[in-house]
Amino acid sequence: MPPEAALLRANVSAPIAALLVALRQAGVTRIAEGRPLAQEVRWRIGGPADLLVEAESSTEVAACLRLARAHGVPVFILGDGSNMLMDSHGYRGLVLRIGRAMSALHIEGTRVICGGGLWVPRLALELARRGLTGLEHVAGIPGTIGGLVLMNGGSQRKGVGAHVRRVTVVTPEGDIRSLTQEEMAFSYRHSALQGRGCAITEVELELEPGDPAAIRREMIDILASRRRKFPKNLPNCGSTFLSNPAMYAVVGPPGKAIEEAGLKGIALGGAQVSPLHANFIVNRGGATSDEVLALIAHIRQTVHARTGYRMDCEARFVSAEGEERPAHDFTDAGRFDIGLLGRIAL
Ligand SMILES: Cc1cc2nc3c(=O)[nH]c(=O)nc-3n(C[C@H](O)[C@H](O)[C@H](O)COP(=O)(O)OP(=O)(O)OC[C@H]3O[C@@H](n4cnc5c(N)ncnc54)[C@H](O)[C@@H]3O)c2cc1C
Repeated sequence: MPPEAALLRANVSAPIAALLVALRQAGVTRIAEGRPLAQEVRWRIGGPADLLVEAESSTEVAACLRLARAHGVPVFILGDGSNMLMDSHGYRGLVLRIGRAMSALHIEGTRVICGGGLWVPRLALELARRGLTGLEHVAGIPGTIGGLVLMNGGSQRKGVGAHVRRVTVVTPEGDIRSLTQEEMAFSYRHSALQGRGCAITEVELELEPGDPAAIRREMIDILASRRRKFPKNLPNCGSTFLSNPAMYAVVGPPGKAIEEAGLKGIALGGAQVSPLHANFIVNRGGATSDEVLALIAHIRQTVHARTGYRMDCEARFVSAEGEERPAHDFTDAGRFDIGLLGRIAL
C-alpha cells in the first residue's frame, strides 16, 4: 500500500498525506509517521505527531518548511525538547527536529561556529578544552544551541545571547537569512525569534581567551550545584516558571514563592511539584499535558493571590492544532480540563 493511502486509512488529514508524498519526492528520508512525542521530549509527555522529520541539512530544513507551507500544514521546530510540554493529543502537523544530524562544531581562535542541533553540554566541554571563557554558565543545560539561543537560556541570571554574533535561520517561507545580535533583540529568556516559526540552523559565538583550568573548575562547580539542587531521576523540563525581577526583589525566586505557598509536593495524577525543587514539575509516570497545565494554573493563581505577583512560564506548550506559546497563556485562557483542579492533592 502506498504510504499516503496508509496515512489516510489511519485517519490522517489529506494535507498531511499530500505533504508526506511531497517530502519523499523532495528526497527527505528521515520521516517518522505517528511517532509518540513522549519519546522525543524530556517531560516524556505527548501524543503522536502526524509527521516527524529529523533534518540533515539547512537545504532539507528549507524544503520541509516550504512544502509544509504550500500544503497548509503547521510546523513545530523541535530541538532536544527540554523546555517543551507537548499535547497528550499529539500534533496534527509536521515536527521538524534540528538535532544530532546538524551538530557540527568549528572553532577558529575565539570564534565558535555551531550547527543549530549542537548539544550544549558538548559545546561547554569543547570550550573548556580550548580555554574559551564566557559561557561557563551553560554547562549542564540539556538542550541544543538552537533551542538555547531561541530561549536566550543560561544560568546565574545570564543568557547565551551576550556571546552570539550571528544566527543563521531558515524562515517559514524557506529562505535562508543571517541575523545579527542586535536583530535577535535578546532579553531575559527571550529573543526576537520566539513564536516566529524560523529554524535556527547555525550560530556564531564570540568568546574570550581564558585559563582552561579555571574554566573547568567553574564548570565543575556549576555541575555539582545543579546535581544537588535539581531532581534528576524523574522526567521534567527544568524551571517551569520564569524569575521575575520585581518579584525576586520582594519575594525571591519562583521556587521559594511556590514553597512558601505550601505547594511543594502537590500532585495531580502523574504530575507533581518536585519535593526537591518547587519550580520543577516532575512526571512520576503517565502524566498528561492537562495535568501539568492544571498544576501550572493552580500554582500561578495561588502565588498571585498570596504575593500579588504573576509568575509567567518558561516552559512552552504546543497544542495538537499547532499553537506554541508559554504554557500560562493556555491556562489563563482556560484551555485545559478545568475539572482537574479539584483533584490536586498533597
Ligand atoms: C533538567 C533541566 C535543566 C534545565 N536547566 C536550564 C537552565 O539552567 N537554564 C535554561 O535557560 N534552561 C534550562 N532548561 C531548559 C532547556 O534546557 C533550555 O531552554 C534549552 O536551551 C532548550 O533547548 P532544546 O534544544 O531542548 O529546545 P526545545 O525544548 O526543543 O525547544 C525550546 C524552544 O526552542 C525552539 N527551538 C528549538 N530548537 C530550535 C531551532 N534549531 N531553531 C528554532 N527554534 C528552535 C522550539 O521551537 C521551542 O520554542 C533546563 C531543562 C531541563 C530538562
